[in-house]
Amino acid sequence: MFNYKKTCFSLLIAATAMTTQAEIQLSGEVKQGGLIIGKTKANSLVTLNEQVLSVSKNGDYVFAFSRDDQKEYLLKVVLPDGSIEEKTLKPAVREYKISRVEGIKKSIMNPNKKANLRAQKDREMMVAVRKISSDLVDFSQGFIAPRKARITGVYGSQRFYNGIPKNPHFGVDYAGAIGAPVKSPANGQVLLWVPDMFYSGGTLVIDHGHGITSNFLHLSDSLVKEGDKVKQGQVIAKVGNSGRVTGPHLDWRMNWHSVRFDPQLALKIKAIK
Ligand SMILES: [Zn+2]
Repeated sequence: MFNYKKTCFSLLIAATAMTTQAEIQLSGEVKQGGLIIGKTKANSLVTLNEQVLSVSKNGDYVFAFSRDDQKEYLLKVVLPDGSIEEKTLKPAVREYKISRVEGIKKSIMNPNKKANLRAQKDREMMVAVRKISSDLVDFSQGFIAPRKARITGVYGSQRFYNGIPKNPHFGVDYAGAIGAPVKSPANGQVLLWVPDMFYSGGTLVIDHGHGITSNFLHLSDSLVKEGDKVKQGQVIAKVGNSGRVTGPHLDWRMNWHSVRFDPQLALKIKAIK
């Protein structure tokens, strides 16, 4: 009986339109810096423009838009029965906070040769880590804030130091004294712990699967080591003032591979049942 019904249903799908809009199940905001999770049937092929996305055995997939993304995307899902679902996505444009800071010390403005070499090594390490795409599907459960504390810096904001534009800020900064607890925003696995990167100081990277990582900067210590599995809400590190900072705080950044998205938008994601 069950099989008979299933067959009838497939035939019905095949007899109607082969390509359908709006069937696609997504959670997240289609805007610059937004994180999107999707759910489809197992063994579907999902592409975002030309890029093939990883699909978990339960049909979960994920992608994100960068800070200044102006592109239009075609999300295409080819289901196991051959039917196709499509959706056009155009991330909404955002306005970011711009601020000007004068009187920055020259040593920070122009790091010396040794510092540059160290920073280059750090960057290469982070690039390598962001290429990793594990089978974890911890991103699909959503995220919680790593601290219950005042937010002192937001994603996308940009500073001009002594009139010179710096790289935009890609994290969310939380207030905190040295040693204050940092919780894992979701389940995951520790990919990297480096206590002394040049700019970001104590740097911890947690893998949530399919190229989604949480990055914690300026830490004074980590309570976990590379390879450890972590649970959502578990205290994993301590706030610090390591690296190039003006004072202790937590900087939480999130990546989908090399795409940096807004952790505050990730907090709004709801798991798709
Ligand atoms: Zn920051």
